[in-house]
Amino acid sequence: MFQTTIAKESSVEGVGLHTGVHGRVRLLSAQTDTGIVFRRVDLDNFLIEAQGHNVARVSYATSLMKQGVLLSTTEHLLAAIYSCGIDNVYIDIDSIEVPILDGSAEPFMQMLEHSGVRKLRRKRRYLKVLKPLEVSEGDRRIGVYPADEFRVRCYVDFPHPVVGQQEVEMLVGPDTFRHLLARARTFCFDRDIEPLRAMGLIRGGSLENAIVLTHDGIMNGPLRFPDEFGRHKALDLIGDLALIGLPLLARVDAHKAGHSLHTQLVSRLLADPSLWTITTREAAPAQHQAYAAVLPQTSAVPAD
Ligand SMILES: [Zn+2]
Repeated sequence: MFQTTIAKESSVEGVGLHTGVHGRVRLLSAQTDTGIVFRRVDLDNFLIEAQGHNVARVSYATSLMKQGVLLSTTEHLLAAIYSCGIDNVYIDIDSIEVPILDGSAEPFMQMLEHSGVRKLRRKRRYLKVLKPLEVSEGDRRIGVYPADEFRVRCYVDFPHPVVGQQEVEMLVGPDTFRHLLARARTFCFDRDIEPLRAMGLIRGGSLENAIVLTHDGIMNGPLRFPDEFGRHKALDLIGDLALIGLPLLARVDAHKAGHSLHTQLVSRLLADPSLWTITTREAAPAQHQAYAAVLPQTSAVPAD
């Protein structure tokens, strides 16, 4: 299995959910061992690697910060890139926050499908988990366990008539991500809107980019899936796991977790090299098939 980048550039623009600032994102190909790297084109091409050591503030969205330069709400875009097996890509962005678009990862999947995949000449390196690691806060917990493929299980429980208990369990790859998770949108409770605004958040939030839950129903239905909430949480989880910086061979189990626990798991995992090894071993066959089925691949191997 070789490293990949995108075959051609693609872009999208819109407002950021929390800042309300308009931004444009452009994906560009990158050479081997670059990883997934944001480039603030409004700040002299300042580079912010999508890696655990750059995680900054995590409450309602995941933000990266490096040398005081912030980049917010990375999780939906990173979930799409990571699930599609893109190892190396520059993400040029001209603002402080990744656009929220429709609140899901579907527009980013469309970008990636437009971009296609290009194989590079160097073997892909995986982070393979050897020993379990668990992080918990009260009744919320997340764990990562040894496995030969990348699987996630995500359980949510919101005491609300249209949410309740929801669980998603899947092998992560482009095909499963596209069909099971990509279209699931972010959500909030109407009672939280004013407090969040008072905190300076969700300035770009609207009924077009988030499902709003009322006391006993939904303000802006219909849902795209009956369990759209659980699916979206799994999407967020994968986007945060992308900060591991390498494709993962492990099973991740999240129980009522969120960005804070997700990123704590990533940081603690990376901080303890006795828990994992880096390997170039091939991924599971199922991932190969899913990979080939969804994204157009070019056979040309560039000189890189
Ligand atoms: Zn989200």
